[in-house]
Amino acid sequence: MRTLIAGNWKMNGTRAMLGELDRIAAIAAATEQVDVAIAPPFTLIGEAAAHAGAVMIGGQDCHSADKGAHTGEISAPMLVEMGAGFVICGHSERRAEFDETDAVVLAKAQAAQNAGLIAIICIGEDEAERDEGRALMVVASELDGSVPATATAANLVVSYEPAWAIGTGRTPTADEIGEMHGIIRAKLLQLLGEEGRGVRILYGGSVNAGNASTILACPDVNGALIGGASLTAEQFVPIIEAAANVSQ
Ligand code: PEP
Repeated sequence: MRTLIAGNWKMNGTRAMLGELDRIAAIAAATEQVDVAIAPPFTLIGEAAAHAGAVMIGGQDCHSADKGAHTGEISAPMLVEMGAGFVICGHSERRAEFDETDAVVLAKAQAAQNAGLIAIICIGEDEAERDEGRALMVVASELDGSVPATATAANLVVSYEPAWAIGTGRTPTADEIGEMHGIIRAKLLQLLGEEGRGVRILYGGSVNAGNASTILACPDVNGALIGGASLTAEQFVPIIEAAANVSQ
């Protein structure tokens, strides 16, 4: 399974940031054993796709309908037309800020896959759920509710992102990550049969150049989804390099 290092620029980036993408693309082209992806804001997807080279460009969200009266929204076929290859579905910021339920995430992921995109479905507990010992249950239930039954290893990536680790500098221990990813793998096998064995499971939450090697070496960690440290080539490239070393 090829390691995937994906960056989520969130609501950051104007055209000036495309220079960072050029620098990331140069390293991605030279690092054949690792897949590299970036989700810039919608406004940059078209231009980013033209700059991207070996880097797959994607969206951070999409609507579940292909078109219609949904002011301000973007559909999966529109992302495809702009050159996107994937879309993030159900990021914890969307679940929390925009009340996205598992049913909404499922519909978005299904629309994305129908349009030919890879859906990167985010799941993960918040701090209270972890403190109450409910993290494993929350993650299993999010998988049950948001993974399309027809998903395949080619069009689904799952990203385990404990909300309390996003942007905080805190991460679970390597053992905790390994345990959670093992449970996610078992659940994917239950939901998708043998197809679930090939689905890449990313870890996301405060990954940086200092901790990437340890996290990427955990069992069933097939890559990482990175927010803050994906915004500059200086911070992102060492993570790609760490992934290349771990996957050797
Ligand atoms: C994220 O928002 O998906 C994320 C992992 O952010 P950060 O790397 O900044 O914690």
